[in-house]
Amino acid sequence: MTVRAVELIRSADVVAYHCARHGRSNARAIAAQYLGTQVEEALTYPVTTESTDDYQGRIDAFYTDAAARLAAHLDAGRDVVVLAEGDPFFYGSYMHLHKRLAHRYVAEVVPGVTSVSAASAALGTPLVERDEVLTVLPGTLGEDELVRRLADTDAAAVMKLGRTFTGVRAALRRSGRADEARYVERASTPTERQGRLDEVDPASVPYFSVGIVPSRVHVETTEAARADGEARSLAASEASTLAASGSKATPSTGPTGPTGPTGPTGPTGGIVTVVGLGPGARDRLTPEAATALAEADDVVGYATYVARVPPNPRQRVHGSDNKVESERAAFALDLARTGRRVAVVSSGDPGVFAMASAVVEVASQDYPEVPVRVVPGVTAAHAVAARIGAPLGHDFATISLSDRLKPWDVVERRLAAVAEADMVVALYNPASRSRTWQVEAAREVLLKFRDPTTPVIVGRDVDGPEESVHVVELGTLEPSEVDMRTLLIVGSSQTRWTPTGAVFTPRRY
Ligand code: SAH
Repeated sequence: MTVRAVELIRSADVVAYHCARHGRSNARAIAAQYLGTQVEEALTYPVTTESTDDYQGRIDAFYTDAAARLAAHLDAGRDVVVLAEGDPFFYGSYMHLHKRLAHRYVAEVVPGVTSVSAASAALGTPLVERDEVLTVLPGTLGEDELVRRLADTDAAAVMKLGRTFTGVRAALRRSGRADEARYVERASTPTERQGRLDEVDPASVPYFSVGIVPSRVHVETTEAARADGEARSLAASEASTLAASGSKATPSTGPTGPTGPTGPTGPTGGIVTVVGLGPGARDRLTPEAATALAEADDVVGYATYVARVPPNPRQRVHGSDNKVESERAAFALDLARTGRRVAVVSSGDPGVFAMASAVVEVASQDYPEVPVRVVPGVTAAHAVAARIGAPLGHDFATISLSDRLKPWDVVERRLAAVAEADMVVALYNPASRSRTWQVEAAREVLLKFRDPTTPVIVGRDVDGPEESVHVVELGTLEPSEVDMRTLLIVGSSQTRWTPTGAVFTPRRY
């Protein structure tokens, strides 16, 4: 069932369906899980397959009466949904109501999956390929007519089997198509059955079944495509060995600088995309980032972050330590130069204390022809802030407490300036196994300008298995509880810690 069909059924005032005299309705059974308080109209056929004197007359009277029943609801302002198996305009009984009602009321037809599509999907065999012709045949045609049409077509679907089955089988044999023909009963239901049509016991065949003569072109071309695919994957693995050994293509001129999603590709088709993975949860990865990962041939980054990318056997993964960023950047740019699409991954946002700067810098110096694209992510400060309220609601700064890449006195001066300016400050990289004194040193600087009761949010491993987010006062912040996976947000003089445990910084002074 399509999403549209489900929506309409759920919101309908009246749900109508055809059913046989025994009272069971296949259409209703299919939709049963979406039925609740809707008014139901069962339209029971007066006759089915048994012969009667005036079949057509009785059927016409039945449809006229059914249309009148639906019209009464429509006149009262009720929306009516008519259930139809498969597609309503494909041998569907709904057509008889459409003829009688569509010129008087608004009628929307929601297309459905026909039994022909369901059957070929169940068989796992394409129906028509290239310029093949598909003929849809009701089994109720005479045998000679079936023979003529089967002989003249590429693929065929034969509907309305049941009691017509022996005639259909005879026509398939006479037209030379019996070997190809397949049989599918109740396609896509739990009681689906399928097999070679020629071997089916005619006495066991219900109306709810189809015969399929599948695509010939598909059969003829499959073997060649498989042989070709195998040859190509051999060639590809040789090419990738070359790329992995780092052979460099001759640089040529081409686009430079970061590009947009549809921006230029380089002369080799290679590109480096620096992708922000967000703090960790799958639903914090942006759709753009997910697409960039899905497009990549190679994934490069700090091993911890690379491990967060779902493994894809097509991709080569290059995990590294988190030390020399420029080397990782050059490695990625080398790969892109040979035509590979490379994703360089960072946690959070790649532009916040992460790989994007190194990639853009090295590319601008040594790889002007390699396109570079940066895909943003949710940075740790925003993930932590969101857990506790809105501490970053007004002006704020982000400062890394790491003194590996900048001297500590620069860190200290910035902390003092930000504290004096009364800005909220998010502290990244506050500590690590070997850097243990920086949190205490930072706290001392901040306390020169901030009240000891200033709220500090201690966010650790947000989105991860060891997540904890809590609030302490600056005066009692315990540096030993802060590690590499922690981010600190220190409030301004305006930041408030509410009795409910939330923290926010108001937008007006
Ligand atoms: N590019 C990343 C930051 C890398 S710097 C980003 O935008 O989030 C690494 C620092 O980020 C860590 O030391 C810690 O301070 C912070 N951090 C990263 N992920 C975190 C998480 N899930 N929870 C808390 N802090 C995190």
